[in-house]
Amino acid sequence: MQNLDVTIVGAGSAGLTLALLLAEQGLKVALVEKGAEPLPANPAYLRVSALNPASQRVLAHLGVWDGIAAQAAAYQQMQVWDADSFGRIHFAAEPPQPADLGWICDNEAIRQQLYQKVQQQPAIRCYFAAQIQQLVQSEREVLLQLSSGEILLSELLVGADGVNSYVRQQLQLPLTHWDYQQDAIVAVIHCDEPHQATARQVFLPTGPLALLPLPDPKHCSIVWSAETSRASELMALDDAAFARALTAASQSVLGCLTLATARSVHPLRMRYASDWVRGRVVLVADAAHSIHPLAGQGMNLGLMDVTALAELLGKQQQAGKPLFAPRVLQAYQRWRKAEAQSMIAAMEVFKRGFSNEQPALKFLRGAGLLLADKLPFVKQQLMAQALGNSGDLPALAKP
Ligand SMILES: Cc1cc2nc3c(=O)[nH]c(=O)nc-3n(C[C@H](O)[C@H](O)[C@H](O)COP(=O)(O)OP(=O)(O)OC[C@H]3O[C@@H](n4cnc5c(N)ncnc54)[C@H](O)[C@@H]3O)c2cc1C
Repeated sequence: MQNLDVTIVGAGSAGLTLALLLAEQGLKVALVEKGAEPLPANPAYLRVSALNPASQRVLAHLGVWDGIAAQAAAYQQMQVWDADSFGRIHFAAEPPQPADLGWICDNEAIRQQLYQKVQQQPAIRCYFAAQIQQLVQSEREVLLQLSSGEILLSELLVGADGVNSYVRQQLQLPLTHWDYQQDAIVAVIHCDEPHQATARQVFLPTGPLALLPLPDPKHCSIVWSAETSRASELMALDDAAFARALTAASQSVLGCLTLATARSVHPLRMRYASDWVRGRVVLVADAAHSIHPLAGQGMNLGLMDVTALAELLGKQQQAGKPLFAPRVLQAYQRWRKAEAQSMIAAMEVFKRGFSNEQPALKFLRGAGLLLADKLPFVKQQLMAQALGNSGDLPALAKP
C-alpha cells in the first residue's frame, strides 16, 4: 500500500509534465500508465505537435527543453491562405519578440525527455503497463487498485488519460461532444522545395491542410483534415496518386510532394467534459477537452492546464494547507474552462467559416484575412494567440 499526495493516471505529455511540476514542490506522486515506458529512440515524426513559446517556457523550466529542441524544427514564419479566395495572411516575429514562433516536435520525443527527468525524481513512482482494477474515493482519500494488487492511496487523483479517459468514464462526468465530420491524415512528406522554417496551412473547402516543417529542410509533417468521405477517398489512393492529390491541394507551394512514410488517419471529434472536478478527482488536458488540430493548440492547452493546477496546489502546499480544498479545485476548473471554451469556440468559427461555399462568405473571409494581414493591431492579437501569450497564463508560462 502506497500513501501519496497525488496519483496521476496517464503518462502522456500532460501527465508527465504534471508529475514533474508537483514533485518539484515536494509532493509524493504516483504515475499510472497502461502503455509501455517511453524508451529513447530516434524520432520518426509520425505524430508531431506545434508547441508554442508558452509551452516552451514551462518545459525549459523543467530542464527538458534542450533535449526536445534538439530533435525539433523551429519555425520563424507562418503562412495561412484560403484556397478558394484571395485571402492570405503571413506572420513573422518582429523584435522584441523572439525569432522563433514555435517548434514542430515529435510527440514521443517530448514524452521521452520528460520521462528521463521523471526517472531522476525520487518523489515520483511510476507504474507502466498498469491495469486499473478500481477507483474509489471517500471523504478522506482516493484509492486506486491495480491488477498487480498494488493499492495507491492519495489525497488527489488526476485524470490525464487522454480523449477516451477511463477516469472521466468511471466518475460518469458528463461530456459534450460532436463530430467534426472530418478525419486527419498524417504523414511525413518529402518536398521539392525547402520549407524555409515556415509553417503553412491552406484552407480547402473540404478542410485545412497543414505543412509543418521538420528538421530536414525538405521534409514536412502533413495534417490533412478532410471531410470523412474525402479522407476515405484519399486513404484509398495508392502512394503516387495520393502524392499528386496532395501536391494539387497544397497549390504546389513547396513544389512536387511525395510520401516519406506511411499515412495514418485520425477521426476528429470535439469533446468537452462539463465537470472537470468530482470530489478529490480532477481532469486535465485531453481527458477534459479535445479540439480540432487546425490551430495546433491541443497539447499547448493541456500543458497550460497542468501548469495552472500545479501552481494552485503549490500555493496550498507552501501555505501549509491541505492539498485537497474544494475551493482550489473549483478555481482551477473556472480558470482553465474559460481558456478551453474560447479555444473550442475559435476552432468552430474557423472550421465552419472556411468550409462554407457561399459566395458572400467566401468574399468576406478573403477580405477578412487580407484586412487582418494589413492591420497591425489585429495581426498582433492573432500573433499573441499563436504564440500562446494571450489569455490568463500560469506564472511559469508567462513571457
Ligand atoms: C492529428 C492531430 C494533430 C495534432 N497536432 C497538434 C499540434 O500541432 N499542437 C498541439 O498542441 N496539439 C496537437 N494535437 C493535440 C495533441 O496531440 C493532444 O492534445 C495531446 O497529445 C494530448 O496529450 P495528453 O497527455 O492529454 O493525452 P495523451 O497523449 O493521449 O496521453 C494519455 C495517456 O494516458 C494513457 N492512458 C489512457 N487510458 C489509461 C488508463 N485506463 N490507465 C492508464 N493510462 C491510460 C495513454 O496510454 C496515454 O499515454 C493534435 C492532435 C491530432 C489528433
